[in-house]
Amino acid sequence: MAYQPQVIDAKIVSHNPKNGLFEIVAQLKDRTVCRLIYERDAAGNVTPTHINRLLKEPCPICRKDFLCNCMSKFKENISSQALDMAGTPQA
Ligand SMILES: [Zn+2]
Repeated sequence: MAYQPQVIDAKIVSHNPKNGLFEIVAQLKDRTVCRLIYERDAAGNVTPTHINRLLKEPCPICRKDFLCNCMSKFKENISSQALDMAGTPQA
């Protein structure tokens, strides 16, 4: 069955009002923790540019406990859930 990430907690951990970049750390139900990097353009559109798995738990997909790229396939899915929960930083 395809991996279905479920965000159970998300918060904004850093925000740079000068360039519109901000970061959200999202915790998934399977204990995976991801850091998402977003950019905001002049029109206010928010785009996830990077997702990194924090190395607290092995990857839920490939089971590696070091860096892998599995989460990048789920960037949009995890990102939209994280934004729903954490919102976007006020300018
Ligand atoms: Zn992996």
